[in-house]
Amino acid sequence: MTAFKTLDDLTDLTGKRVLLRVDLNVPVKDGKVTDTTRIERVAPTIRELSGKGAKVILLAHFGRPKGKADPSMSLDPIAGVVEDVLDHRVNFASDCIGEAAQKAVDAMVDGDVLLLENTRFHAGEEKNDPGFTEALAKNGDIYVNDAFSAAHRAHASTEGLAHLLPAFAGRTMQAELIALEKGLGKPARPVVAIVGGAKVSSKIDLLKNLVKKVDALVIGGGMANTFLAARGIDVGKSLCEHDLAATVNEIEAEATAAGCALVLPVDGVVAREFKANADSETVDVTAIPADAMMLDIGPKSIASVNAWISKADTLVWNGPLGAFEIPPFDTATVSAAQHAARRTGEGLLVSVAGGGDTVSALNHAGVAEDFTYVSTAGGAFLEWMEGKPLPGVDVLKV
Ligand code: AMP
Repeated sequence: MTAFKTLDDLTDLTGKRVLLRVDLNVPVKDGKVTDTTRIERVAPTIRELSGKGAKVILLAHFGRPKGKADPSMSLDPIAGVVEDVLDHRVNFASDCIGEAAQKAVDAMVDGDVLLLENTRFHAGEEKNDPGFTEALAKNGDIYVNDAFSAAHRAHASTEGLAHLLPAFAGRTMQAELIALEKGLGKPARPVVAIVGGAKVSSKIDLLKNLVKKVDALVIGGGMANTFLAARGIDVGKSLCEHDLAATVNEIEAEATAAGCALVLPVDGVVAREFKANADSETVDVTAIPADAMMLDIGPKSIASVNAWISKADTLVWNGPLGAFEIPPFDTATVSAAQHAARRTGEGLLVSVAGGGDTVSALNHAGVAEDFTYVSTAGGAFLEWMEGKPLPGVDVLKV
């Protein structure tokens, strides 16, 4: 496995100023944080560093202020929420560099936690500008990155700092990297990937990378319609990107060349309306009525997906198998998710999932906690599935 430095490599943290990059980009509605998952994920690293006597200085971005201070994207209100989650005082500085930051850092005592203002209030953050990175580095002795979700961007606080300070992975980053290594790095075989969701167009690179790495690629969701249509099947009014026929044929050819089985639905649940409990029927994919759309894969297809899961030692999953938000079109997603969770619980499967709606789909199935690892990282998880380098991770490697 690729080695990277972790908190285990840090011996004496007492009095050390640790610049800790975290993901605090939490959802906010009417001024209230509606989901603290991201804060809870980084809490163990903050607690550990603080418990070991470090001065923990949190760096994070919030929203897209485009390099200018914007009070509506201040991290100030988030400091109190971090404080509640940690049950530990969290101070706030009104800038991440300059006098305000320095004063606040100078006032810290061992074990203190300080949150600096949104790094993206400075254009130098996203440009990975050396002057800005140096200004950030001035307030730290050590850099720890616990924000895997931002690791696909080479920004000052996600990549640049690692060149100026001794750099380490935080506990959440560490867990994520270990899980991803098990998923596609050096996975136990056979490896099965399930890719669902709405469209092929947003997942072309991902599909092309997966066919080279996995033993079977299960296609579900709206994107299955595009594959079926490319094989000359009439998918009626189903969501379908007809103009991508050549691309999916290419992916099929690459799968064949790589010895990867491409698993498409053989039946589906179709409806005439995209709404909960709409009248629906199960038909073979070759018999989709012209005025209907396939909103879930059918029972024969579910059996086939679950059989592939049973054969797999490793499962990598992105995207629901159907329109899981509206019952009964959640049936396949729930069935496959629960089957994978059972196999994982029995110690027979390593299951790694993430990206987009996958986390909500697994939550909906009630099994997000039962997978080996569920990544909340979104973009970074998808770029990892696409096989792209992640600058914020690469820079931590030894
Ligand atoms: P993605 O963000 O690409 O993973 O897509 C997730 C979305 O795909 C969800 O909102 C699902 O409702 C939608 N979806 C999945 N299967 C279908 C389908 N057969 N027809 C239309 N939408 C679908």
